[in-house]
Amino acid sequence: MSDWEEEYDEDGVAIAGPSPVVSAQRTEWRPPSSFGSKGSVYLGGKFGVNEQRNESDWRNLRNQHGDTNPTDHLMCSDPDSGRGRRGGGSRSGTGRPVLLSVENSLIGRVIGRGGVKIRELQESSGARIKINRGDYEGEVLIFGSSDVQQKAKDMIEELISGSASGPRFNSGSERSGVRSKSCWPASSLQTSAGTATAPIDWTSIRENRQKYETMKWQDLPPLKKNFYIEAKSVASRSAEEVTAWRKENNNIFVDDLKEEDKRVIPNPVYTFQEAFDHYPGIMENIQRVGFQKPTPIQSQAWPIVLQGLDLIGIAQTGTGKTLSYLLPGFIHMDQQPVRRDKKSGPGMLVLTPTRELALQIEAECNKYSYKGFKSICVYGGGDRRAQIKMVTSGVDIVIATPGRLNDLQMNELINLRSITYLVLDEADRMLDMGFEPQIMKIILDIRPDRQTVMTSATWPAGVRRLARSYLKDPMMVYVGTLDLAAVNTVQQTVLFVQEEEKKAYVFDFIHNMEPLDKVLIFVGKKIVADDLSSDLCLRGVAVQSLHGDREQCDREEALQDFKDGRVRILVATDLASRGLDVHDITHVFNYDFPRNIEEYVHRVGRTGRAGRSGASVTLVTREDWRWAAELIHILERAGQEVPEELVLMAERYDKHQREKEMFPAKSRGGGGGGGGGGSRGARENGGGVWGRKEGRNRGESNWHF
Ligand code: AMP
Repeated sequence: MSDWEEEYDEDGVAIAGPSPVVSAQRTEWRPPSSFGSKGSVYLGGKFGVNEQRNESDWRNLRNQHGDTNPTDHLMCSDPDSGRGRRGGGSRSGTGRPVLLSVENSLIGRVIGRGGVKIRELQESSGARIKINRGDYEGEVLIFGSSDVQQKAKDMIEELISGSASGPRFNSGSERSGVRSKSCWPASSLQTSAGTATAPIDWTSIRENRQKYETMKWQDLPPLKKNFYIEAKSVASRSAEEVTAWRKENNNIFVDDLKEEDKRVIPNPVYTFQEAFDHYPGIMENIQRVGFQKPTPIQSQAWPIVLQGLDLIGIAQTGTGKTLSYLLPGFIHMDQQPVRRDKKSGPGMLVLTPTRELALQIEAECNKYSYKGFKSICVYGGGDRRAQIKMVTSGVDIVIATPGRLNDLQMNELINLRSITYLVLDEADRMLDMGFEPQIMKIILDIRPDRQTVMTSATWPAGVRRLARSYLKDPMMVYVGTLDLAAVNTVQQTVLFVQEEEKKAYVFDFIHNMEPLDKVLIFVGKKIVADDLSSDLCLRGVAVQSLHGDREQCDREEALQDFKDGRVRILVATDLASRGLDVHDITHVFNYDFPRNIEEYVHRVGRTGRAGRSGASVTLVTREDWRWAAELIHILERAGQEVPEELVLMAERYDKHQREKEMFPAKSRGGGGGGGGGGSRGARENGGGVWGRKEGRNRGESNWHF
């Protein structure tokens, strides 16, 4: 199975992730407003911003954690967020570091085997160089005087451009361009240099590719995409009214990401009627399920998607994002010029990261009986044979996890050529799970003039790249603070404990539960989920557990038991942090701190749903100090009380980080944390974890490829 509960080291780095690329913590820092100009250079990748964005007398705050550094690692956090958090001043050298963004595949050239290259670079240039790996690209930070920075930058650029097979600044022989440490005799090197092969004719390769593409798609049936008829009431809304509406509705931000000839951003619809007046079948369904009005993302997404435009929806599960693409998708499929019975395969494909989400989307899909569309859920772990049977018997909508669908595709069991409406749901999660290669293969078989909708909870570099590759001139709807608005309804308590005290805390919590309480306990590892749930069972507590090592049927049963209230305690890994739509969870108990702060918001958002209030309890140990600043930011934005201990923790971590930068050797000896950092400065700056610049609301484009 594709298990995304892999173990993480102290830096949130997957120790054994599905992707061969070592992924750094997903929490992203926020580039400064001057990013991309002064001091930053781009090499083979690009940065931008992403964002997102008591019970209890029984609990006593404790001041148990110390400030020794729990971890040691090579990476450092960003210069600018660090600088901001520390109230100005550079970390080392004479000014701000120069920042080079480098694709991960090239970072090895800078580091060299066992760090040889980076040491050489430092010695030769006199600069201090730090590497900060990301999911797909990393940062090289160069500290020192500007001369020294320039020298190091030139050397690194040369290394990366591949013009030097070894650093020319190293020795006399290398200066002449011959690798001194080559295992080949000089004569053979000369011989091979002499037999130069003919240059590759890229123009003809490109032309051939184009010809092949044209041939591949030449006999496609015609495609219709625009089905939007703007209601008079919508068209007549003034710009001021629309701006005010967006602000009031989760601070929605809309952007046209087309590079040139920007289009008019459609006004939001306030009612279902305004969006679907011309589609009575859709209206009947909405009346049947009894929804009162569109959610903010639906209001803004429907006019865009119904026009046939590609859309990126940055929104969490729980915002109504599924319907924002499903209903226009129904209309899209129904209104195609080619009759359904003449089509050779499905018309809509929804790719989604997990089985749970796939099943949930299917359930949502099945709530609406539009024109008899048939949907099927295709996911790893499910009955493959039954899925194949369903797929081949003719379906309209396929909801699939990328791995299983790619398997069916490779075995020619599904025809994707007929798909005209593609959804990449929770794109960030799919990338986290290493599904990019499968997504790429799947999309290769889908016609390029399709309509594509992508949703993601965050907007990191990988998702931006995915969007650039697979969407055409999209518009973006960003549901700003909804995640935080959701957690605004949750009373969040943070407790400082030692690792060995955690069980006592959770038992105490359960002991004090009211009969109607329902608690979701999050743990970091599958083994902890098993351990904790069996301990609870032994104490006679009815409990279920949910994690990736359990059989699919057991997982479904666990969830159903929890939903139906047969058990009121579910111990789960982050498999349950997103997408689970259980309305009556009263408490979220973070037994282990999540592996990044975004996950914290997802977890906490499992309670306080559908207008209810909820409470969360988070156990924080000294090992979690790297998250303190970001947690403060979340608590503050959600109007929660910030424990003084957390502020002190953030400051200690910040201090430790600065010391580590100033005295790398010393702090390496003593361990050392990584990432995060900062305290008050971060908060004053609006924090960096969500990566959303406030400037976006002022109309700055965030299409940073
Ligand atoms: P989603 O974010 O798509 O996972 O949706 C979360 C829940 O909200 C689902 O149970 C939907 O059925 C429900 N929902 C979707 N749209 C609306 C709406 N306009 N009003 C009320 N509930 C909705």
